[in-house]
Amino acid sequence: MSVEENLQQVNQVIQSACEKVGRKKEEVTIVAVTKYVGNDKTKEVLEAGIEHIGENRVEGALEKWEAFQGQANFHFIGTLQSRKVKQVIDKYDYFHSLDRPSLAKEFQKRCPEGKKIRCFVQVNVSGEASKFGLAPEETIPFIESLKDYPAIEVIGLMTMAPFEEDPEKTRPVFRGLRELRDEVQSQRFPHAPCTELSMGMSNDYHIAVEEGATIVRLGSVLMNE
Ligand SMILES: *Cc1c(COP(=O)(O)O)cnc(C)c1O
Repeated sequence: MSVEENLQQVNQVIQSACEKVGRKKEEVTIVAVTKYVGNDKTKEVLEAGIEHIGENRVEGALEKWEAFQGQANFHFIGTLQSRKVKQVIDKYDYFHSLDRPSLAKEFQKRCPEGKKIRCFVQVNVSGEASKFGLAPEETIPFIESLKDYPAIEVIGLMTMAPFEEDPEKTRPVFRGLRELRDEVQSQRFPHAPCTELSMGMSNDYHIAVEEGATIVRLGSVLMNE
């Protein structure tokens, strides 16, 4: 199927997940994860009306930016090595995986004059050893410490749920992230409005939307032929 056809189905899934819990579909933004595909398919994504694309590696991130700068909002969704920050900092609009002080320091150091770096703090809600991110209990102290880096604005939290045959099993992870987001918001940190929840991938985004996702990161469900 074309990206456009896939997108129609995805939109229906998001719509019904929203209806189920009394949310508005407009509250959910799709980031198309283009890491598996080349520029032709990415062009199809943009032509289908998607305005946000996500990449998880610096090489692919730069390639997509070269080809589509000015035509999309760019999300860096993968783990970012500090030494590579300078290659993407002035090009990408959102960073989904802020998870350590050294990365925050590098963002601050490399931030172009006058720019704010819009970040999600990545949290390992599930506790899976293979997942990156802060432990839930480390999250608020970490966010508080980011006040020392005026270039950084914490716009939300991000998590990856473990892959489950039965996506329903991911629900506690997404709910946990939402509760943590609410807790961060209640602190009213000026540098951390933390309104967004980046959660949900192809296998589990319907559950994530029911639990409050404002950004879903979708690769295979959109790009599959
Ligand atoms: C690859 C990737 C996705 C998308 O994965 P799909 O299962 O193909 O939708 C989302 N988020 C991150 C961080 C990824 O690396």
